[in-house]
Amino acid sequence: MEITGKSVFNGIAIGRLAIFKNGDNPVKREKITDCRAEIQRFMDAKEEAKIQLGALYEKALKEVGEVNATIFEVHQMMLDDLDYVESVTNIIQSQEVNAEYAVATTGDNFSAMFAAMDDDYMKARAADVKDISNRVITILQGNQMGGIQSEEPVILLANDLAPSETVQLDKSKVLSFVTRHGSTNSHTAILARTMNIPALIGIDYTEDVEGKLGIVDGYEGKLIIDPESSVLEQYRARKEADEEKKRLLMELRGKEDVTLDGKQIKLYANIGSVSDVATVLANGAGGIGLFRSEFLYLESSDYPTEEEQFTAYRKVAEMMAGKKVIIRTLDIGADKQVDYFGLDKEENPAMGYRAIRICLDRTDIFKTQLRALYRASYYGNIAIMFPMIISVDEVLKIKGIVAEVKKELDAEGLPYREVELGIMIETPAAVMMTEELAKEVDFFSVGTNDLTQYTLAIDRQNPKLDNIYDSHHPAIMKMLQMIVDNGHAGGCWVGICGELGADTTLTETFLRMGFDELSVSPSMVLSVREEIRKTDLSSQEK
Ligand code: PEP
Ligand code: MG
Repeated sequence: MEITGKSVFNGIAIGRLAIFKNGDNPVKREKITDCRAEIQRFMDAKEEAKIQLGALYEKALKEVGEVNATIFEVHQMMLDDLDYVESVTNIIQSQEVNAEYAVATTGDNFSAMFAAMDDDYMKARAADVKDISNRVITILQGNQMGGIQSEEPVILLANDLAPSETVQLDKSKVLSFVTRHGSTNSHTAILARTMNIPALIGIDYTEDVEGKLGIVDGYEGKLIIDPESSVLEQYRARKEADEEKKRLLMELRGKEDVTLDGKQIKLYANIGSVSDVATVLANGAGGIGLFRSEFLYLESSDYPTEEEQFTAYRKVAEMMAGKKVIIRTLDIGADKQVDYFGLDKEENPAMGYRAIRICLDRTDIFKTQLRALYRASYYGNIAIMFPMIISVDEVLKIKGIVAEVKKELDAEGLPYREVELGIMIETPAAVMMTEELAKEVDFFSVGTNDLTQYTLAIDRQNPKLDNIYDSHHPAIMKMLQMIVDNGHAGGCWVGICGELGADTTLTETFLRMGFDELSVSPSMVLSVREEIRKTDLSSQEK
């Protein structure tokens, strides 16, 4: 059987299918006689849950850093909350019912209470209280919490995966991610690209596929279940060829990014979290061209503090050991929604209150991030980049706030370095203003994902329009040339950090246009390097 969806990262995976269980356990109400013993069962399960959360905290700390790991500490504290514990024990005693039922009822009541509160922070706690209750129920039932039970690595099927769920997964056991929902830009998709494993979205599987053999074809965007032996053979051979290609590419690690006729270009990588730095280094990128800092906010249940952000940025700067690290300031709104920001629902979120527009309005949030960035600059080679720019006026406002932040740090005696300031060119307005903008900043980085969306007036999230969302459109090509020319004339260096930068059919074109930098997913670095190294710009243009 074959199910077609959409590929968000290519490659072939062959393995058993496992459906991700997110710990939604059906709970029965049962009468009990020994209330004291039942309360003890609850207390024991609660302690076990805290041990599990402690282990998850340690794991998350290593994989995604302190900011994102804190959620597990918060969960530990919630389990010890007096009102919560009292409610569970009261229900057991007064109704003479089993601990599972008492925990489920308490979880539902508390969650409903939080959800009804007129405070975004408290609203967000509703999901947490459900989460901890589920964990205790799972332990009481003798089951294991969501995740992968199999000893062997599996193709993981899920409705969708929340960042907190992917954090808990043992990544060495995932051959591929396949989800019913999710988009090309979902966290799972970005994680798959970073892990260099195929991933599919929009696959409407049935529950009875659990344990069956499957093939993920990340080139064609399909999942094959119970393949015939001839099909299986065919895919094994393709997978083998893929791996051979990867082995050959690995030989390009540490090689220079230079064309046959000697033109150098900087080849950097895009990341979303501190833990991605490992794959950047493994693939030998020359720096980080885009650190999507909003993932620190997305994976957190409250505004990350200056200290938390400083720790994350400093770690990346130190791990990159003097190589350039370009950190983009907060780019939320549109497809990246964060509950605790309390943003209103909008008719047209992609053109709405987002990114730099929020930062210039809520300058407290912006300043906290800038302070953390400048403080971290002392520990490496950081540059700062601002998203969604449409005017010179915005850049002047940003520079004013940057000056205030530096003055504050000076007054407090906190050390920092001078950093390059750049902007993303991802709106047609910014393209048309490149001549003026170049005078104000040190570099441009083209966000082709959004630039395509705004230029062609095609929502990048709408699967119905995928076939006409064309980043090769001549309008985009003309814009790219204009950005490079105006950038250079104004003394800026110019790069691309949108997905188009990794399109090897255009590598030669970008080199001829005069781009100074390309920043791509870590898993694409070596393929682009291969393309650069075989290009000869002295030969006739194709
Ligand atoms: C882009 O728009 O091309 C870009 C790199 O930013 P993001 O995909 O995070 O919007
Ligand atoms: Mg963008």
